[in-house]
Amino acid sequence: NLQLSSSLGKLGTETAYAVALEAKALIAEGKKVYPMHIGDLNFSTPACIKDAARKALDDGKTGYCPAAGIPPLREALAKHISSTRGVSYGPNNVSVQPGGKPVIGKFLAAVLEEGDEVLYPSPGYPIYESQISYLGGKCVPYGFVDGPDGFSLDLDALEAKFSDKTKVLIFNNYANPVGYAASEEELERLARMAVAHNVWVLSDEAYWNVVYDIEAKSIASQPGMAERTVILFTCSKSWAMTGWRCGAAIGPESVIKAITKFNTNAEACTTHFVQYAAAEALSNPAAMEDCRAIVATLKERRDALVPAINAIPGWKCHMPTSTFYLFINVTEAMAKMGMGVADLEAFRQRILADTGVSFTTREHFGRTIDGESDCYIRFAYSGIDADVAVEACGVLK
Ligand code: PLP
Repeated sequence: NLQLSSSLGKLGTETAYAVALEAKALIAEGKKVYPMHIGDLNFSTPACIKDAARKALDDGKTGYCPAAGIPPLREALAKHISSTRGVSYGPNNVSVQPGGKPVIGKFLAAVLEEGDEVLYPSPGYPIYESQISYLGGKCVPYGFVDGPDGFSLDLDALEAKFSDKTKVLIFNNYANPVGYAASEEELERLARMAVAHNVWVLSDEAYWNVVYDIEAKSIASQPGMAERTVILFTCSKSWAMTGWRCGAAIGPESVIKAITKFNTNAEACTTHFVQYAAAEALSNPAAMEDCRAIVATLKERRDALVPAINAIPGWKCHMPTSTFYLFINVTEAMAKMGMGVADLEAFRQRILADTGVSFTTREHFGRTIDGESDCYIRFAYSGIDADVAVEACGVLK
C-alpha cells in the first residue's frame, strides 16, 4: 500500500501529447489524419548542425560536462543574445538547459515562496500553470483581447491583477497559442509595470525566430529590465531541433547560478555532444540561413491556410505575424451544431473522428478567465505541408 506524494495533484501536464497519441492510434488503424495538434516540425535539422553533433561524438564529447554548459556554447549564447536582444550578457549570464521547458520550472523554483502570485498568459503554454501551482505559487492568469487586427493585451486589466504578493510576470512574446506579437508600446508599458511593482519577468522567447515581416523585440532591452528578466531560449523551433533538447536561461548572474544548481541536482548537464551542435547553430551563418528558409516555408503555409480556414462556414481566424499557430474562433460553427464553450472537447473529438483533422482547443492552454465565452481551437502548421493543410480545410467545409 505504497503512496504517491499528495503534491502530485498540483502538477499539471501538457495534454496536447494525449491528442498526439489519439492521432497516432487512428493512423495505426489506417485512417487518414491531418496532424495539426502539436508544435513539432516536419523539417530536418540543418546539415551543419547534424555534422557538428557527429563530429562531437567522434571527438569523444560523451562524458559529463559543466552543469552550466560547455564554455563555447555559453559564449556563443551570450554573444547571440547580446546582439539580438540589445542587452550585454557574458557567459556567466547563461545556464544551458535540456530544452526551453526546464527553464520555466527551474526559474520559478529559484524565486518563488509559498503563496507568491505569478501572472501568466492564458490561453498560454500549459507548463506555466503546472509549475506555478506545483511550487506553491498562486496562479493569476491574464488573457488576450481578440480584436479586428489580431490578439492584443488589455494592459489596464493586466495591471489591475498586480498585488503586493506578485513575484513574477511571465510574458510570452511571441505567443503560443494565439500568435500574439507585442507592439513597442506594449513592451514599454509592461516593462514600466514590472519595474513599478518590482517583479521578476520570465520572457519566454521560444518563438523568437518565428516571426513574419516584423522585427523581433525583447522586453529584456526595456529600461530597468535586464536586472529582473530571465530569457527562455531554445533551439527547438528555430532549427527543427525539438527532440535534441537544448535551450538556455539567460539573465542576472544570481538567478542563473541558482538555476544551474538545479541542473546539478537533476540532469547533471545537458547532453554533451548536443551542446556542440547548438553552438554550431548559433555561430555558423549557414544554420541561420536554414532557419530563415524554414520560416519562409512556414509563412507560405500560413498564407495558404488562413484564407482556407476563413472559407469554412462559422470559422474565423487572423493572419498572425508570429509563431506557427492559428487560434481559430469556431463559436458560430459550434452553435450551429448546438454546442457551446463547454463542448470544446466533444467538438474536437467529433471532428477528429469524422474528418481526421487533429487539433487542440482552448482547454489545452490553461484555465479560463472570467468572461471568456467564445470557442477557440488551435491549429499548428509546423508539422503539415501547405497543400495537405488546405486539403484538411476542404474536408471541414
Ligand atoms: N515555451 C513555449 C511558449 C512553447 O510553446 C514551448 C514548446 O512548445 C516551449 C516554451 C518549450 O520548448 P522546448 O522545451 O522544446 O525547447
